[in-house]
Amino acid sequence: MYSEFDLIRHYFIRPTTGTVLGIGDDAALIAAAGESELAISTDTLVAGKHFLADTDPRSLGYKSLAVNLSDMAAMGAKPRWALLSLTLPNHLAQENTAWLSAFSEGFFELAQQHQVDLIGGDTTCGPLNICIQIIGEVPKKKALRRSGAKPGDDIWISGFLGDAALVLAHQQQRQVLETSEVTQCLPALYTPKARVELGQRLIGLAHSAIDISDGLMADLGHILEYSQVSATIQMNAIACSTVMQKYLPQPWAIRCLLAGGDDYELCFTAPPENRKEIDMLSHELSISLTRIGKIGPGKDLIVKDRQGKPIIMESKGYDHFHS
Ligand code: ADP
Ligand code: MG
Repeated sequence: MYSEFDLIRHYFIRPTTGTVLGIGDDAALIAAAGESELAISTDTLVAGKHFLADTDPRSLGYKSLAVNLSDMAAMGAKPRWALLSLTLPNHLAQENTAWLSAFSEGFFELAQQHQVDLIGGDTTCGPLNICIQIIGEVPKKKALRRSGAKPGDDIWISGFLGDAALVLAHQQQRQVLETSEVTQCLPALYTPKARVELGQRLIGLAHSAIDISDGLMADLGHILEYSQVSATIQMNAIACSTVMQKYLPQPWAIRCLLAGGDDYELCFTAPPENRKEIDMLSHELSISLTRIGKIGPGKDLIVKDRQGKPIIMESKGYDHFHS
């Protein structure tokens, strides 16, 4: 069976005309009037697949926009407009349902924070499915791409990785976390912080960027593939919460950290001469920015444990058709 990405490659990648950047990155780019390009992307959340059917609707409204803002952040784009296509089961679409009030409140809370206008969408009846299209602006020829990494670059991540996957493992009864640990990790799963301002500020500092939605190894893997480079990262350099630290190096926690996904942090590469400026940016935005490894020639992704031994993972991240 095709992997998600082979399927896209085989059936949907075709030569484009009049497009600055087509399929393959966190967003497509098209030319706009003046000094900017438009960055356009879409993401779908499916009940039972991306979220549990009884998820708090306010968080769902928030998160469905956050995951789209995260793709804008990965391009260095300023999000401006959104379209919302909602497929709703009958019982949620009745007039004045609390579900729709809470969902729209969560959505608009985040939209207002980022001054994103909802400009359209579609509403249909069926199994719950939320699809958002997002449009942003980025200065001409300056967008951060997956393809810009160069040997010698440092590899950086924003924030902490793995907490969303930890708490999901608990919710799915694969692991048991303490109640206080669940409380600590839940915001990572339900109200991820899209690093929108960080993305824009990395223009001119970073050579490449991606947002971590499917897991660090899978998403860094996309940078390597599109940039034709290799990477070596140190697992113990990856910033993580005290909850994650407690469970490392148990194999299930390592999987959450390296391949869990749903992090919506940025992974980017930058030349070593920009270290000081990136550290200053981290301080200014109060976002942890951590160097986790180096880009090299070749094409492999090597993750080393505390003893310097390579970690072998059977799955590098989330694939809709193989997870
Ligand atoms: P992301 O995780 O950043 O949302 P994906 O990994 O989902 O990106 O998708 C990889 C690339 O493939 C993106 O550029 C996306 O726009 C494109 N893509 C995904 N599905 C399709 C499709 N059915 N048709 C065309 N392009 C697609
Ligand atoms: Mg993305």
